[in-house]
Amino acid sequence: MGLSKKEKMKIIIKFIRSRYGKRINEFLERNIDPFELLITTVLSQRTKDENTAMASERLFSVVTCPEEIIRMEDKTLENLIKPSGTYREKAKRIKQISKIVVEKYNGKSPRTRKELMSLPGVGPKTADVVLSYGFGVPNIPVDVHVEVCSKRLGLVDQNAKYEEIRKTLESLVSEKERFLVNVGFVNFGKEICRTHNPKCGICPLNDICDFHRSKRMG
Ligand code: SF4
Repeated sequence: MGLSKKEKMKIIIKFIRSRYGKRINEFLERNIDPFELLITTVLSQRTKDENTAMASERLFSVVTCPEEIIRMEDKTLENLIKPSGTYREKAKRIKQISKIVVEKYNGKSPRTRKELMSLPGVGPKTADVVLSYGFGVPNIPVDVHVEVCSKRLGLVDQNAKYEEIRKTLESLVSEKERFLVNVGFVNFGKEICRTHNPKCGICPLNDICDFHRSKRMG
């Protein structure tokens, strides 16, 4: 008989701890400002991590709070975040978000999912990233790597969408382990279980992977 999802998840968590434990601890020790994280997550939409990091560094090397973003010339803001792509649209959104944050939330990032998702351009993934990384809320943000890895490993249904993936994964681990799942799958997805050309031959999880089994049988 095959392993249950919970049994598989136990093996995966053990693997994540041993392979990415150091990186996860580094993340946990960082004190990330939730507003900066919110804006950085908006910058990360439809672009690569390197571009997001560059745009965020450029912006937050000259601003420290939403008030300064509001006062900034549109052109200056657009130039600073240019590396993130679709920069005109993102600049507009960042200004709108900054205004709402100043007017409604005293210059700080809102801290509930509902409030975050009411901001322009903020969907469930961005809200969950801010809650998890910024406020330590035990949830599992689902990015492309989390989705691909969990579907291939057979932890969630192949047709599952964002909410179903998040809730299913959250039900398989304790609250303490949820952060591990996100950081672990993001790193595993970049390194081994890549969206295109996964390295199944050298993958330490290949004997519990549905995708690998179906490839060998097919
Ligand atoms: S065996 Fe392949 S598809 Fe399965 S988890 Fe490993 S890399 Fe991903």
